[in-house]
Amino acid sequence: MASSLRVKVTAPFRSHAAKERPAHWANEQGTTFKNPWPSFRAHDWQDQYYIVFQWSKRIPKIPDDIATLLPVAKPTWGLDADASRDSMKVTWLGHATVLLEMPARTSINSEDPLPNPPRGIRILFDPIFSERCSPVQFAGPKRITPSPCQVPDLPEIDAVVFSHDHFDHLDANTLRALLARPHPPHVFAPAGNAPTLHALGVPAARCHILDWWESRRLDLPGGPAVDLTCTPAQHNSGRAFSDRFFDARTLWASWAVEEVIAYFGGDTGYRATRDGVPEADTPSCPAFAEIGARFGGFDVAFLPIGAYKAPRFMSPVHCSPRDSVQVFRALGAKRALGIHWGTFILGEEGIMDPPREVKEEAAEAGLEEDAFTTCGIGETLLF
Ligand SMILES: [Zn+2]
Repeated sequence: MASSLRVKVTAPFRSHAAKERPAHWANEQGTTFKNPWPSFRAHDWQDQYYIVFQWSKRIPKIPDDIATLLPVAKPTWGLDADASRDSMKVTWLGHATVLLEMPARTSINSEDPLPNPPRGIRILFDPIFSERCSPVQFAGPKRITPSPCQVPDLPEIDAVVFSHDHFDHLDANTLRALLARPHPPHVFAPAGNAPTLHALGVPAARCHILDWWESRRLDLPGGPAVDLTCTPAQHNSGRAFSDRFFDARTLWASWAVEEVIAYFGGDTGYRATRDGVPEADTPSCPAFAEIGARFGGFDVAFLPIGAYKAPRFMSPVHCSPRDSVQVFRALGAKRALGIHWGTFILGEEGIMDPPREVKEEAAEAGLEEDAFTTCGIGETLLF
């Protein structure tokens, strides 16, 4: 990419952060974390047993025609599209990996030279291009669809943003490759992730650790500036087996991006189902309506729709397509793209169930056709 302008990161003029001790801190110091809502249920020992020993026996079959059902294209990044400078370009790169290129027009200081060619800030969410989402590349969940590209194929990236430290979202090899590029990106992650990021080589000057509701401004000389806010999600975290037995030392999050307003859901649950209790009677997570109200809705939301079966184990931390449609409505989103499916087998549902079910649920909820969409891996959508 021709641009030699570097993005600057500063505190924004307005902060969403609260003053008192937040409800999601599990201790006084804010070094351990919890989900502060009745819509969450921690995994009990039976759940832990299932997850560790039983789950792998119940994985779904990969359809023979997966390549036709779920095409993987070499990304064009929207360069071939008739995109106006007002459009946001969104490329789904498999699983939860999304490249968001903001509109080129956003400008707070017209005296700076424009990037050439004109472009908006590029934010890469939860990048993983490795074969497996695992601490090691000889074991762990393996891709069922190929990666549409590798790090050298990406355009220049200004910021890499992580939702949490699970291996399918924070991939060490991918991050190292991004840091080795001629123009390494700034890296953003929720509270508690500094040791992990420093160990992976992120320099302190480009490492930005935010608690829920904290924001930073990304300013690309030449005009485009966006505010990035770390927002709540209902999930958990951890990279070591032992992490599942202690209070979480790293936080999980979703992220809101303004000027044109986008929301990255990352990995989240909506309501934890309970044996014998009708779904309508189980509490749902109030964070999404709060996020929607604080930001006044979103132009587009990237929402997870996969890894939801069996509900007993998955619903506390992952959305079903039905949950995601509820999250969409709570956020006040105009459009949504379904992510977190079609790449690694993490739930018992059929590989192609998430896009089919989200379409059905959206229709049932009365959403406009294509308001909540899915796309092929490597495809770029304009919003
Ligand atoms: Zn996760």
